[in-house]
Amino acid sequence: MGRIVLDQVRKCFGDTEVIPPLDLTIEDGEFTVFVGPSGCGKSTLLRLIAGLEDTTDGHIRIDGKDATHVPPAKRGLAMVFQSYALYPHMSVRKNIAFPMKMAGVPEDEQKRRIDGAAAALNLTDYLDRRPGQLSGGQRQRVAIGRAIVREPAAFLFDEPLSNLDAALRVGMRLEISELHKRLATTMIYVTHDQVEAMTMADKIVVLQAGVIEQVGSPLELYRAPRNTFVAGFIGSPKMNLLQGPEAAKHDAHTIGTRPEHISISETEGTWAGTVGVSEHLGSDTFFHVKCDAFPDPLTVRAGGELSLSYGSKVFLTPDPAHLHRFGADGLRLA
Ligand code: ADP
Ligand code: MG
Repeated sequence: MGRIVLDQVRKCFGDTEVIPPLDLTIEDGEFTVFVGPSGCGKSTLLRLIAGLEDTTDGHIRIDGKDATHVPPAKRGLAMVFQSYALYPHMSVRKNIAFPMKMAGVPEDEQKRRIDGAAAALNLTDYLDRRPGQLSGGQRQRVAIGRAIVREPAAFLFDEPLSNLDAALRVGMRLEISELHKRLATTMIYVTHDQVEAMTMADKIVVLQAGVIEQVGSPLELYRAPRNTFVAGFIGSPKMNLLQGPEAAKHDAHTIGTRPEHISISETEGTWAGTVGVSEHLGSDTFFHVKCDAFPDPLTVRAGGELSLSYGSKVFLTPDPAHLHRFGADGLRLA
């Protein structure tokens, strides 16, 4: 079980309202990601759910029960932070056992849960080591193991991979997704990284300045961003957001076209332009093209083998089936 409902939850620090009243439902077993720029209130929202911060107004319900004033330890949730906070003088086994010892779980039950968590996290061979003898990724797995043995109604992760290097991050991302499939327990995962959000989430909650900009599956957000903020935030490289007469032709204040939805030609097309810097990734090439119609360069994604020299003349054509239209208020037009 692990259905979490936020009902008009509001948070102020002193006179500053960091989260205006907000409604959100997280279904049992769902992998939900809170994503948004630094300072938008992701950690605060997670800490409110965990009970590490008091709500200023509103109610939090966990599995139908009002948990608004329930202390953190009694909410049945387990939090994993960016810093692993392991005890350096204790073995991996003792680190994982610690919360169960505190809760008075019988020894044989402790052993059963430790073995299960270690197997799930590939830590079986490391149980007698100390944290100092482990890599960063292994330490993060111990921290997750310590959360698993509590058999929580939900796991709360606050940027757990930020301290790891890029390659390890990709590996751990897969491990956490894999773990979610196996445990089928509710997970709420906070990150500023939209790639993590897109690759891991069942449901993404995009936040800006404490306000939910959109809630949806990764593909819903990719296909139909509600506003220009979500349009620019979700997707890599970013959607090109264009204004002026070309947008007016589409009865919009702003039109959006993703780099992968623009074709590039040396002979013909909609917008004439000049190739600037090219980024060759092997699998793809990203061209930055300055078009006469727009003040800022557009990003275009093309095949990895395509080569166009700096300064060459090209034409860009947006795919009309994937053209996004937004009004002056930034909201998506039907
Ligand atoms: P995020 O995790 O998205 O980066 P936070 O939730 O940490 O953002 O912070 C949201 C806002 O609340 C920020 O403006 C931050 O400065 C403010 N804030 C967070 N914690 C406190 C606190 N204990 N006291 C005062 N302001 C805080
Ligand atoms: Mg944070």
